[in-house]
Amino acid sequence: MQIIFQVLFLIALIAGISFFARNIRRLLRNIKLGKAIDRTDNKGERFKKMARIAFGQSKMVKKPVSGFLHVIVYLGFIIINIEVLEIIIDGLFGTHRILSFMGGFYNVLIASFEILALLVLIGVIIFWVRRNILNIYRFLSRELKGWPKNDANYILYFEMVLMLLFLVMNATDYQLQLNGASYYASEAGITGSFPISQFLLPIFDGMSNSSLILIERAAWWLHILGILFFLNYLYYSKHLHILLAFPNVYFSKLKPQGELNNLQSVTDEVKLMMDPNADPFAAPAEEDQAEPDKFGASDVFDLNQVQLLNSYTCTECGRCTAECPANQTGKKLSPRKIMMDTRDRLEEVGEIINTKGKYEDNGKQLLDDFILREELWACTSCNACVEACPVGIDPLSIIIDMRRYLVMEESAAPNELAIAMTNIENNGAPWPYNQQDRLNWAKEN
Ligand code: SF4
Ligand code: SF4
Repeated sequence: MQIIFQVLFLIALIAGISFFARNIRRLLRNIKLGKAIDRTDNKGERFKKMARIAFGQSKMVKKPVSGFLHVIVYLGFIIINIEVLEIIIDGLFGTHRILSFMGGFYNVLIASFEILALLVLIGVIIFWVRRNILNIYRFLSRELKGWPKNDANYILYFEMVLMLLFLVMNATDYQLQLNGASYYASEAGITGSFPISQFLLPIFDGMSNSSLILIERAAWWLHILGILFFLNYLYYSKHLHILLAFPNVYFSKLKPQGELNNLQSVTDEVKLMMDPNADPFAAPAEEDQAEPDKFGASDVFDLNQVQLLNSYTCTECGRCTAECPANQTGKKLSPRKIMMDTRDRLEEVGEIINTKGKYEDNGKQLLDDFILREELWACTSCNACVEACPVGIDPLSIIIDMRRYLVMEESAAPNELAIAMTNIENNGAPWPYNQQDRLNWAKEN
């Protein structure tokens, strides 16, 4: 009988990991649809930034209550899953609590896992209350209606269930050890230390060993199957940030936030204009005869790979939107929605590739079908969203690239901007005055 369970366990493990690997391949393929960008410089600085922001959660704790709870849930969840290592070995080899040979250290481990499980449970319940009862503004925006709200709640329920299963598994195991049940009882005495789950023992009072074994095995199986399910659910959820926050912060911009990149095509054009020896009528070299790059971005293919990675990493926390002056003053812009729209469009493109083998135009693009012009022009380019983001996302860079497309490909800037740009072109300043008249204001009447 035991061997059947071992085989079933192996099948579940292989299926779970294979499906996860397939999703990761799709994720990487989708990100590679973007333009390549070199962010491999300053490795030391990048690692430090990743350690500080992604691992150390330094930006999360800027909002102390949610930051502290997030650190507990994050660390608790990761550390408790060390237990999964033991579950996998036990599942594959038919052993029971294989790591208990570590003796006292094992007891300390199990005890700390249990305390963390309780803290995670409390943290998750508070998160649920904040999200569903306290009406916190950043959780009420229109982009959070429907699936994003459900997704956030599903994962909270899921974590609650996983933690409860872990504690039930330990409680029944402890009771079986106390009962001296074969396979559970150890010659060395009680294996593990159960500071939290021991309080669940009254629930199982009077149960036969066979019932306890049934509950313990059910909790054990549901716990590991739940974790494999969670691993695969990640791809469809904002919780991808658990994995992607690290590379996302690593590849984030190191330059000062206010510094915008220049388009190489524009730089080349300007250099040519300013070169007194340049021949504007010279035939282009053969390698330059390819169709020129589009200016700016109207679809996900025009964004770079870090911007697409950003979209998959977004936690939908809304800290960016809460800080956005345009959003605060009632404009349509929400930087969180910019990231969610980018991910939705990228997923749409990915789905087409999944079903048809390659991308076939479906008549949609990121601009207009997902992100509206009104949203783009509402941005003040203040960088508050970039500063607020706890995982190093840069919504402004997408807004700027899409505006570049509107201005340089469609000449579609709002009238006020078009006038200012014409003035800069003609007068070297955004005002409608000749350069020679600039100091008129200082003259005596
Ligand atoms: S840069 Fe734009 S989107 Fe970001 S906070 Fe400022 S106004 Fe909002
Ligand atoms: S961009 Fe950053 S701050 Fe904004 S919702 Fe996404 S993770 Fe949160």
